[in-house]
Amino acid sequence: MTRAEQYRRLHNHDGPWDFIVIGGGATGAGVAIDAAARGYSVLLLERHDFGKGTSSRSTKLVHGGVRYLEQGNLSLVMEALKERGLLLQNAPHLVRNLGFVVPTYDWWESPFYGLGLKLYNLLAGKYGFGASRILSKEETLERLPTINTEGLRGGVIYFDGQFDDARLLINLVTTAWEQGAALLNYSAVIAIVKDADGFVDGVRFRDLETGEEYEAMAKAVVNATGPFADALRTLADSTAEPMIAPSQGIHLVFDSSFLPGDSAIMVPHTTDGRVMFAIPWHGHTLVGTTDTPVAEAAAEPVALEREIEFILHTASLYLARKPTRADILSMFAGIRPLVKSDSATNTAALSRGHVIRIENSGMITVCGGKWTTYRHMAEDCVNQAATLAYLPDRPCITANLKIFDPGELPQSELLHPALPYTVADIRRAVRDEMARTVEDVLARRTRALFLNARAAMEMAECVAGLIAPELGRDAAWAHEQVESFRETAASYLPAQ
Ligand SMILES: Cc1cc2nc3c(=O)[nH]c(=O)nc-3n(C[C@H](O)[C@H](O)[C@H](O)COP(=O)(O)OP(=O)(O)OC[C@H]3O[C@@H](n4cnc5c(N)ncnc54)[C@H](O)[C@@H]3O)c2cc1C
Repeated sequence: MTRAEQYRRLHNHDGPWDFIVIGGGATGAGVAIDAAARGYSVLLLERHDFGKGTSSRSTKLVHGGVRYLEQGNLSLVMEALKERGLLLQNAPHLVRNLGFVVPTYDWWESPFYGLGLKLYNLLAGKYGFGASRILSKEETLERLPTINTEGLRGGVIYFDGQFDDARLLINLVTTAWEQGAALLNYSAVIAIVKDADGFVDGVRFRDLETGEEYEAMAKAVVNATGPFADALRTLADSTAEPMIAPSQGIHLVFDSSFLPGDSAIMVPHTTDGRVMFAIPWHGHTLVGTTDTPVAEAAAEPVALEREIEFILHTASLYLARKPTRADILSMFAGIRPLVKSDSATNTAALSRGHVIRIENSGMITVCGGKWTTYRHMAEDCVNQAATLAYLPDRPCITANLKIFDPGELPQSELLHPALPYTVADIRRAVRDEMARTVEDVLARRTRALFLNARAAMEMAECVAGLIAPELGRDAAWAHEQVESFRETAASYLPAQ
């Protein structure tokens, strides 16, 4: 899958597309797969790299959401648990079953959380990941050898899914490509084209590599731009009222010594009334997250000081060795595309259910939801869009559609002693996965930037040297890439 091949599909296509999808995150890629797999023609446009938005910045859980159980939102939990099961079935190479332990320090906690987590597993029905159970203190310590033992009584274990969000996304893009869609990264929609009656007819987009502009027409235009959805809605209709309440969440990454073994910690009640996770991920420890309302979504959001302090403090209550700023190997922020509500008093209380909104212009906005439910969101969206656009009815087939598996690469030279990535990973990223920059390679085709920002900065020069000739670029481009990557990567480390 190369950009040149995508352009060939674009240029070979005659007449309007059935679908133009704006946004190459989980939601957009899901819609592209669903529509293409039904036999509709699809063009997807992403203004940056696939997954540059929220979809590479999640907690990496394929889950029903224990927190929504607490809020009494059983149908949302059931929907997500079913999707969790389907994702494991269709992408067993990308999703794994992980044990989560809730450590308990009060007499009532084990029976209380034990009961709640039993219900969580019951709601999964045939899609269950394994029964939850109460653990003794010894069993808890066996699973979590680094847990704070002061006052520890025991724990409760339950099972949920874990994945690599950007990796799944790139494989979804490849799956959509296999199904016949054309998908372009670095292609920003800059205008919505309308007919004489003011209805959406297509889009105008700019190739950010060449500066060239194109017009593409479609029977259905889907706005899947997540936290950026309001900007697109305003492009289509300058009077559109904002519908997104953007909320930032950050994660800190430490080495594996903070959480050795293969179980995660789930803290069911932080001081701000949320849940927090510490998870083993790619040989590191990932801790998060926060819920901070922000005025607007940035392409490269930055962790706030108070968010960093909050996570360090909460982690220090549960880990025997307290992590400090100096232990942070990387940190990253993402923006939740939450949908506004009149009744919620803060962003943590806003629904994680998805919304499909038919705009006055006829554009279809799909947003909210979560990574885990991307397939179901896409199914709903394509059903509604097909009706609106007078497309022939065709059934959704994604519940049983296998997600692309690139397979193992042959052994090759390691690029950095702290990370597992090799020269072969870099070559595949540019040759088969449409990586166009050093950042694409180090942030989303590999996860170097998210795991160890310093190591990623040290890898940048070597990566630029490897990819420049592959992409037909010169030494000046490679130099500029290294500078620009190091500037971005600096915000993945805290100020000392
Ligand atoms: C901190 C945090 C933790 C989370 N953890 C989890 C989790 O563990 N499990 C889970 O299931 N969910 C989780 N979520 C939710 C999940 O990550 C999001 O719901 C999901 O990634 C949203 O995907 P999206 O495609 O709608 O948005 P995005 O991924 O943001 O994609 C939108 C895309 O649109 C593009 N775009 C914008 N404007 C234009 C334009 N003009 N032209 C072309 N393209 C454009 C952007 O560049 C972007 O790539 C988490 C979210 C956050 C913030």
